[in-house]
Amino acid sequence: MLKIENLHVSYGNVEALHGIELEVNEGEIVTILGANGAGKSTTLLTISGLLKPTKGSIFFGDIEISKLDAHEIVKLGIAQVPEGRRVFSTLTVQENLNLGAFTVEDEKTIKKNLEWIFSLFPRLEERKEQLAGTLSGGEQQMLAIARGLMANPKILLLDEPSLGLAPILVKSIFATIKEINQSGVTVLLVEQNAKAALKLAHRGYVMEVGNIVLADNSENLLTNPAVRKAYLGG
Ligand code: ATP
Repeated sequence: MLKIENLHVSYGNVEALHGIELEVNEGEIVTILGANGAGKSTTLLTISGLLKPTKGSIFFGDIEISKLDAHEIVKLGIAQVPEGRRVFSTLTVQENLNLGAFTVEDEKTIKKNLEWIFSLFPRLEERKEQLAGTLSGGEQQMLAIARGLMANPKILLLDEPSLGLAPILVKSIFATIKEINQSGVTVLLVEQNAKAALKLAHRGYVMEVGNIVLADNSENLLTNPAVRKAYLGG
């Protein structure tokens, strides 16, 4: 479904991704693990079209997307939920959700999506008239994911959805990601919380300073001594 080949990305003169290869099949949850600065966010931003590669290609199905504009990429079915729950704080929950659907033209699809999203996140329905800036951290993360789903994506790119959340909320967010995936949305998940991510994902990639150093199914990564030492606390 998504295939990244020899991807190089630079910030000015400094190369952040040194030719990575990554693949996500339809229906999967795939996770990218790695320390701060490894290049995980850069990878997601490049898939979304917010950064342009200096070399390499990104295929979504048969379409090479790396030169397309970000809104065209959303329209093809790729939605990103950025790190740090960037919701529009002076707009209501409902207004934030409406913005997420800006590339969807069919009103029926929007309505159906909204019903599904409110069934996933009943809390958001209760609070749909509330200003997003007054939501709790966990609720803002729910809203950020919900807004991504309003674009009706085939694949959802999630950047650190558990960041800064209390353990009980982390559990609930991961359970919801599973539910989203079971509804037919493919997921590419960037996470610092390696253990939870590997328990959820089918496969994983490990990144170190702009390279993919390991790719395997989650079971093997969970028991891999090097992964355990570096990312799972021994
Ligand atoms: P984190 O978990 O800390 O977000 P990450 O794995 O997502 O880490 P990236 O944010 O992709 O890492 O950063 C990869 C490299 O690119 C780092 O060396 C970082 O300093 C650099 N970098 C990221 N954003 C910029 C930017 N806007 N300008 C210059 N360099 C950047």
